[in-house]
Amino acid sequence: MLELACATSNNHKLKEFQQASGPDVAVRGCPSKDCPETGNTFEANALQKALCYSSACRAEWLFADDSGLEVDALGGAPGILSARFAGSDGDDAANNRLLLRRLADVPRERRTARFVCAIALLRHGEPAATFRGEVEGLVLRRHSGRGGFGYDPLFHYAPLGKSFGRLTAQAKWEHSHRGKAYKAMLKWFRERQ
Ligand code: IMP
Repeated sequence: MLELACATSNNHKLKEFQQASGPDVAVRGCPSKDCPETGNTFEANALQKALCYSSACRAEWLFADDSGLEVDALGGAPGILSARFAGSDGDDAANNRLLLRRLADVPRERRTARFVCAIALLRHGEPAATFRGEVEGLVLRRHSGRGGFGYDPLFHYAPLGKSFGRLTAQAKWEHSHRGKAYKAMLKWFRERQ
């Protein structure tokens, strides 16, 4: 049995990781912690979070993720600042309003964007590997769907012909940046057995 500690205070994320793991992988949470996020990349911030949690969450294997939305017409913003794009941390409605405002004059063909997720993995508190998952899409002009969280209702995913806000949890995991990064980590473990 592979035992993984997950550095997050977000129960929704923890549940997603648990549901996506097979019977041979056990994912447990860590005591919630306030950690600085001062890196310039998703990878740097994921690593910072993992190291910050590891002092109070002893485990052979511990991972943390960091994610966000990169919009091409905004030079990659909001990127690592996705959660606090409009100011206060995690106000999805305000972040979405600001995104729509910034893209008001941008035509459809230039509304390309991607969700990015980086996962940093520690072994006994030391960096072991990082993994990245990305998914390409288009920023819509108005909300579509009520599912998911964050920018999901504004993110159109062409292969399924709908926004992330209209996907089931299972379909989102299958196609999402977080699902891809997590699967890359599980593959890494399988390959080193
Ligand atoms: P974090 O990885 O929890 O720091 O997420 C950063 C921010 O990126 C979130 O608050 C959301 O605004 C955005 N984000 C990350 N992943 C997703 C996603 O799967 N759907 C929608 N928004 C996301």
